Amino acid sequence: MTAFMELGLNDWLARQCSTMGLNKPTEIQRNCIPPILKGEDLIACAKTGSGKTAAFALPVLQKLSEDPYGIFALVLTPTRELAFQIAEQFSVLGKPLGVRVIVITGGLDMLQQGVDLTVKPHIVISTPGRLADHIESCTNFNLKRIKFLVLDEADRLLEDNFGSQLEVIFKVLPQKRQTVLVSATMTETLNHLQEITMNKPFFWQQEASVATVEELTQTYVLMAADMKDAYLVHIVQSFTEEHPHSSIIIFTSTCKYTQILGMIFGDVGFEVAVLHSMIPQRQRLSALNKFKSNEVKILLATDVASRGLDIPTVDLVINHNVPNRPKDYVHRVGRTARAGRGGVSLTLVTQFDVKLVHAIEAYINAKLTEYKTNEKAVIDILSEVAVTRREAEIKLDEQDFGEKKAIIKRKHLQESKDQEILQKSRKLGCKKMNSRQKSLKKTWKKKQKD
Ligand code: AMP
Repeated sequence: MTAFMELGLNDWLARQCSTMGLNKPTEIQRNCIPPILKGEDLIACAKTGSGKTAAFALPVLQKLSEDPYGIFALVLTPTRELAFQIAEQFSVLGKPLGVRVIVITGGLDMLQQGVDLTVKPHIVISTPGRLADHIESCTNFNLKRIKFLVLDEADRLLEDNFGSQLEVIFKVLPQKRQTVLVSATMTETLNHLQEITMNKPFFWQQEASVATVEELTQTYVLMAADMKDAYLVHIVQSFTEEHPHSSIIIFTSTCKYTQILGMIFGDVGFEVAVLHSMIPQRQRLSALNKFKSNEVKILLATDVASRGLDIPTVDLVINHNVPNRPKDYVHRVGRTARAGRGGVSLTLVTQFDVKLVHAIEAYINAKLTEYKTNEKAVIDILSEVAVTRREAEIKLDEQDFGEKKAIIKRKHLQESKDQEILQKSRKLGCKKMNSRQKSLKKTWKKKQKD
């Protein structure tokens, strides 16, 4: 009997775990799989990279195998990339079962998703906004019979403006269901979370005096604000010279800055992948895949990549800006030193950030140590980097980068207007429809047939 079977999992799932190289359950899996299998609601809080996804995916798949139907489980998560990552784990772990998993997120064809939802997938992984859109547009599917609701990164879902979308979703869920809430940081919202679980939930929190993992070396470099970009380039150059096979994630504050840094790195000869919310979804996924497959060794991203993404080969996380909320820091640096491996985080600190760093140190209950750099080497490239940055800014202005943001907003608005029209047209008889309604309905029907 394997250690996974001792938790109550069937041998086909235990075998599937060992195929994936999961030989021994992690702490969260040991503690949370049995209560979920027993039918209890659960709230679990464990450090990032601790094996949270399998902790809920394994028992959900076991229950599904006992009574397979669609839609059996709904998993909500705050970011699109995370939705795809969770779906991948469900698909691989549930392969012997022939599990049907679909991902419903913004940025991809809504009509096609509507069709996918109607063919009764077993597991739906979604970001709240797009699922709420489908529910409101009366797509022909329902969530009335789901057995499981999982909220991954639950605290962010409950804190960060997802409220109205969650309301739409919760209205159509059955009262009788099992609810599982997981996150790496969630004590602050605990009371609110307990309201969502129907029954008195089983609560499990990883014992830890420090909010980050021991294997992570957390460092900082202090610098003048106007030298930041040059420091960043120097640090990346010297780190990649010393560790030519390693991967680096650089977190930045805004989409525009991510884009600018991408151009600076391109100019100084690094191939980088760029990930932020102003890039079309397919391009976002492709950037992430290139980074995951080691084709590109540097990923520049906003906080869209800070939660939950599991890329085992990341050795260094650089915070180009100090996050305003200490828990965002914890999520960012959690992209390295995962599942027992080592890793380094490096935060660029300017004269304006000292208070924020102290708040982070108090939150994680650990002190950052100084990362040694060669200031002379930074000064040598200072003016070259400044010129490259100015050129990048001019190029972006020429490409109307800010204007693109407005266009994306307009596109989203149009999409939701289309859905509204479609919704109205479903309620009307065909004769009463106007031409826009008729044409949208026609496209919709054609997609359903295909
Ligand atoms: P997660 O916390 O779900 O993002 O998982 C972090 C990483 O841990 C993923 O790469 C998983 O494949 C890996 N992992 C999950 N469970 C185990 C396990 N029992 N043994 C070894 N690695 C695991």
